[in-house]
Amino acid sequence: MEKYNLPKLAYEYDALEPYMSKEVLTLHHDKHHAGYVSAANALLEKIDNARKSGEILDFKSVLKSLSFNVAGHILHEIFWKVMAPPASAKSSGVAKPAGKLAEAINKEFGSFERFKTEFSETAKSVEGSGWAILAFHKEHGENGALSIIQVEKHNVNFYPEQTILLCLDVWEHAYYLDYKNDRAKFVENWWNIMNWQEVEKRFGK
Ligand code: MN
Repeated sequence: MEKYNLPKLAYEYDALEPYMSKEVLTLHHDKHHAGYVSAANALLEKIDNARKSGEILDFKSVLKSLSFNVAGHILHEIFWKVMAPPASAKSSGVAKPAGKLAEAINKEFGSFERFKTEFSETAKSVEGSGWAILAFHKEHGENGALSIIQVEKHNVNFYPEQTILLCLDVWEHAYYLDYKNDRAKFVENWWNIMNWQEVEKRFGK
């Protein structure tokens, strides 16, 4: 059975400072994300072994846990990609989306500022652990539509058939060592390490 792998980051662990510290990024990637990958793989192996032996697993519990860990892995994979060091973001002039994505954001939300406000409020108001996600639903309307999803844990509140363009992790492990309980400050600062080129690439697909 195909296994999941922990991807390497495209930047150094201290590259997102001062907005995300080396300590937070290291723990987040090497411990938390790695934990979801190994848990997902262990569950796949358990399912695989049961198929061979004919054992009937407690599928309700096994698949709930698999969903949590696989979704955790996929969201983190995207999360690392949609961030970039703040200096390179500035030098390439990428602080806002451009092209077709900018058009789609303006069409859906009225303006970039309104999108930013809605997305930030979504992230700040997650109850407990979760994510804010910008998604694209190609079956919605004539040319598809953008939407914001507030996910709890890694997998609760998702809609089927939505493509994730951008996601922001607001689990405490993403910010607590840097910002203590000030999630709002983390969300505000996070816009400085956004990689819009990656989001545009995902939208283009
Ligand atoms: Mn996380």
